[in-house]
This record gives sequence, structure tokens and C-alpha cells, in this order.
Amino acid sequence: MRTAEKKISGSTIVVGVAGAPVIHSLSPLIHNAWIEAAGLDAVYVAFAPSADGFEAFATGLRGGAIRGLNVTVPFKETALALADRSSDRAQAAGAANVLVFERHGEVVADNTDGLGLVAALAQQAPGFDVAAGPVVILGAGGAARGAAAALAAAGAPELRIVNRTHGRAEALAHAVGPTARADEPTPAAFADACLIVNATTLGLGGGPGPAAAFGLARRGAVALDMVYRPLRTQFLERAAEAGLVTVDGLAMLIGQAAPSFEAFFGAPPPDIDVRSLCLALLGEPTLGDAE
Ligand code: NAP
Repeated sequence: MRTAEKKISGSTIVVGVAGAPVIHSLSPLIHNAWIEAAGLDAVYVAFAPSADGFEAFATGLRGGAIRGLNVTVPFKETALALADRSSDRAQAAGAANVLVFERHGEVVADNTDGLGLVAALAQQAPGFDVAAGPVVILGAGGAARGAAAALAAAGAPELRIVNRTHGRAEALAHAVGPTARADEPTPAAFADACLIVNATTLGLGGGPGPAAAFGLARRGAVALDMVYRPLRTQFLERAAEAGLVTVDGLAMLIGQAAPSFEAFFGAPPPDIDVRSLCLALLGEPTLGDAE
């Protein structure tokens, strides 16, 4: 394997991802491919602190023991809280998925999930205009917060937040401002929507995904599922059957990873096909397999 040939030396820069669980993360595959293609003396590894051990873990890294960290479930809120400085994006999302460890000891937080969502839309739904109509976000957790902040900043005229726990939807709508409101999971919430986003964990591992009245969305509307295991979720299948353009969670994952890489190494990642690498690991067919 390529990684077995990698030379680790005293000058090798360490970056990584922390989550619980983290074993199935695609981030090591994506970032190590970029590191190798860029010819960097660096390595990207996965860390799995205990559920209550993340703060001690991250505090121990202060001072530049490692260059940076991606943070995933369930540590994103703690990551923001322990940072000395944070971007507007991270504050708006109430969560951080990137920590950069400065040499002088400061920890700087960012949230690139929203950038990933916007990049995924640009890539897989190129004609999409976020200003064209209401946006429905299903979910009100960390990912939904990042999505709502990014879509509001991109010019969404109306955000409808639908969540199992209505109070969390209300809190998120309040944080976004007057263009957002908490909605009930009724068909009316989907009327005339130009974008419907699944930001819940429903559908992960093959379940049916959240209910959505795709038929009421406007013509040319887009459905995006943050879940990417499986890549073609039942949520996206139903959306496609109703005539919506579909955008998958893997495009968003790669879209959020690119600005993370830039935060760690000061330059965007090289233009290589990391999607095919991820599809191979997920056991999904690549474009080449279909030919
Ligand atoms: P989270 O903070 O734990 O939020 C989970 C959300 O799912 C909440 O809104 C929760 O509703 C809802 N939910 C969970 N179980 C439910 C159920 N049985 N019925 C209805 N709603 C349910 O997680 P997160 O960080 O926001 O992540 C959400 C999803 O996005 C995950 O699948 C994650 O892997 C994915 N994600 C993907 C990317 C990407 O790049 N593709 C990036 C970030 C996240 P309540 O508030 O009622 O609990």
C-alpha cells in the first residue's frame, strides 16, 4: 500500500481528525492522497478520544504538537468552545470542524461544512440559484447550523427548518435571523422550495431517510443529502423520482475537506480525483466502472 512506503521523519508534519467513532472516516484517505500528490512531508491520522476526553486531548496539543485537526461528531461544539479565536462561520454554526494549532499556543477554530455544501451544489447542480425560492433544511444539529448559516450568507431568501425536536429548530431559526423560521413536518413546509437538504442522521446505513414532499418543490429544485453511506440514499432516490436534481453527501465531504487542507498547509489541495478513491473505499461504482 502507498502509505506503507511513506517516510516519517522528525520533520514530518502531523494533522488529523478526531471523532467518536472515527474508524469509518474518509478524511485520512482524502487528505493523505492530497498530501502525497502535493509532495508534502506530512501525515494525516485519525484520533478517537473517549466521549468526555476530547477537551483534555485538544488541550494537550496546544503549542503546535500537531498542525491541525478536523473534528467530527460528537466533538464539534466542544472544539469551538475551547478555541481562542474562531471564524464568523464557526460562530454562526455554533460548532467547529477545523482546529489549527498555532506554534505560540493559540487554537483557531473554523467551520467549513457550509463551504462544502455550497461547493457540492456548484459541482453537482451547476445551474442552482439559492435566491430562487425557499430552502428547507431537515434537522437542527451541528451540520444543519453550518448549512443554514452558509445558505443564508449565500442569499437564500427564506429558510424553513424542520426538526424532530421543534425547540431546536426554533433556536436555529432565531440564530439565523428573520429570513429563517421553524416549520412543522407538513407538506406545506415544502411548497415551492428550490432546495431541500437532509441534515439529519436519518438514512445513514440504508434507512428510509426523512419524509419530504418533493412533489411540492418548484421545477428544477435540488435535493442534497449530507448522508453518504450509502451514497445513493433512499432520500435522493425519492427526490430523483419526483424530478429533482440530486447532490450527494460525498461531494459535500470533499468540499469541506479542501478548505481544511488549505487551513493546515496554506495552499489549496492539488487537483486530483479523490472522489474515485472514496467511492472505491465505500464499495461504490466509479464512473470508469460504468463504462
Ligand atoms: P447531530 O448534531 O447529532 O444532529 C442530528 C440531527 O438528526 C438532529 O437534527 C436530530 O434531531 C436528527 N435526528 C436524529 N435521529 C432522528 C430520528 N430518529 N428522527 C428524526 N430526526 C432525527 O449531527 P450532525 O453533526 O448535525 O450531522 C447530521 C448528519 O449530517 C450526519 O449523518 C452526519 O454524518 C452528516 N454530515 C455530513 C457531512 C458531509 O460532509 N457530508 C458533514 C457534516 C455532517 P433532534 O434535534 O430531534 O435530535
